[in-house]
Amino acid sequence: MSDAVEVAIVGAGPYGLSLAAHLNAAGVRFRHFGLPMQLWQSSMPRGMYLKSQGFASNLSDPAGLHTLENFCKTTGRPYASYGLPVPLDAFVSYGKWFQSELAPGLEEVLVTDLTRQDGGFDLTLANATRVRARTAVIAAGVEHFAYLPEPLASLPSSVCTHSSAHHDLTIFRGKEVIVVGAGQSALESAALLHENGAQVRVLVRKSSLAWNGEPLALDRPLLQRLHEPEAGLGSGWNTWFYSNHPLMFRHLPSGTRVHRARTALGPAGACWLRTRVEGQFPVLTGHVVTSAKPAGGGARLGLTAADGSASELAADHVIAATGYRVDLTRLPFIGAQLRTEIKTLAGSPVVGRHYESSVPGLFFIGPAVAPTFGPVMRFVYGSRHAATTVSGRLAGISSARAPVAVGR
Ligand SMILES: Cc1cc2nc3c(=O)[nH]c(=O)nc-3n(C[C@H](O)[C@H](O)[C@H](O)COP(=O)(O)OP(=O)(O)OC[C@H]3O[C@@H](n4cnc5c(N)ncnc54)[C@H](O)[C@@H]3O)c2cc1C
Repeated sequence: MSDAVEVAIVGAGPYGLSLAAHLNAAGVRFRHFGLPMQLWQSSMPRGMYLKSQGFASNLSDPAGLHTLENFCKTTGRPYASYGLPVPLDAFVSYGKWFQSELAPGLEEVLVTDLTRQDGGFDLTLANATRVRARTAVIAAGVEHFAYLPEPLASLPSSVCTHSSAHHDLTIFRGKEVIVVGAGQSALESAALLHENGAQVRVLVRKSSLAWNGEPLALDRPLLQRLHEPEAGLGSGWNTWFYSNHPLMFRHLPSGTRVHRARTALGPAGACWLRTRVEGQFPVLTGHVVTSAKPAGGGARLGLTAADGSASELAADHVIAATGYRVDLTRLPFIGAQLRTEIKTLAGSPVVGRHYESSVPGLFFIGPAVAPTFGPVMRFVYGSRHAATTVSGRLAGISSARAPVAVGR
């Protein structure tokens, strides 16, 4: 492996970019592949706001200088660490600024194949070149894991798509659209569709929508703060634990970890979205989609209500805001042989305390490892723990390999 680079990073979202910033600062040689902020730029609706607070939407750099706040100051954008929603376009620009400042070596190309060779890794790039690396870090986010449940999955994509397929919702102006789901993505997409001239209806399995509360005052009396602490992912003791103790989360029983990684901080709308939804368009709660078929150029859904009664709903298009499910077998660039060597838990790679998988030298960071480090991995806020831990580990491995200088 004499021609191999020390580290290859696959992915240039908040996790990959943060790791690159930390490796650069540590002087580790690496190559970095991916499209900067791709998920945010292409798979989220224009006009969206982040649900995470400003202070919890920082990418991580060792000096702590390339924060969202500093970016907003530098570029004259409004910013508040708490209580002022961050516009999507500002966040994408922030990520690209961070990349140009701290991860300038990014190669904007996708990895098409990753295999294990001679104790290291062979990567094939979309431009047909090959790269050898001693270690590889996968920070590929969730784009490969969009989850479309049956029976919606059996509809053609001309009449039913996952929410991640849409950046521009104005294409539905004048159309009837059903949005399936009850989370922020469903409710905000529905609001944007409505505000852009679509006739929208939201279909929700649960009996009511859940809304997050107003931000808590930072200067609350101590007793109130002890009762309900505020943390990166929101308020309350469970959320505080998920936000601040990913290493302790790792010691919970595996069944608990899988369950909490999937369900904690479950579907709910941000408080600032509420007035853009309630009373604006129909929200049909307590209904499950039991059948789906193309009809008259659109789709017809068969529904069953909680009392067992059946009904139908038709529209020009259905948007399934049904989230993401991590499943290693859906990462298209992991070679078939290598995939069999990666130990998984509920479809997610099992990693140790330094994010290293069962294949020595192969690391995973971000949402893919939420069953190990908890729900914080599903959010930008977790990038700090991942980037500091993995860069520390890789800097250690790299310096242990470096030839010892012999003085004369
Ligand atoms: C609608 C929506 C709203 C959200 N809002 C928030 C929010 O407000 N706050 C928050 O903290 N989190 C939010 N999230 C979660 C967010 O997705 C994660 O926090 C974050 O994107 C994870 O960062 P990441 O770097 O792991 O992945 P991503 O941002 O998904 O980046 C993945 C990277 O991998 C690259 N990649 C993929 N495949 C390859 C390949 N084959 N070769 C090379 N590169 C590849 C991509 O090009 C991209 O650069 C939201 C998610 C969605 C879907």
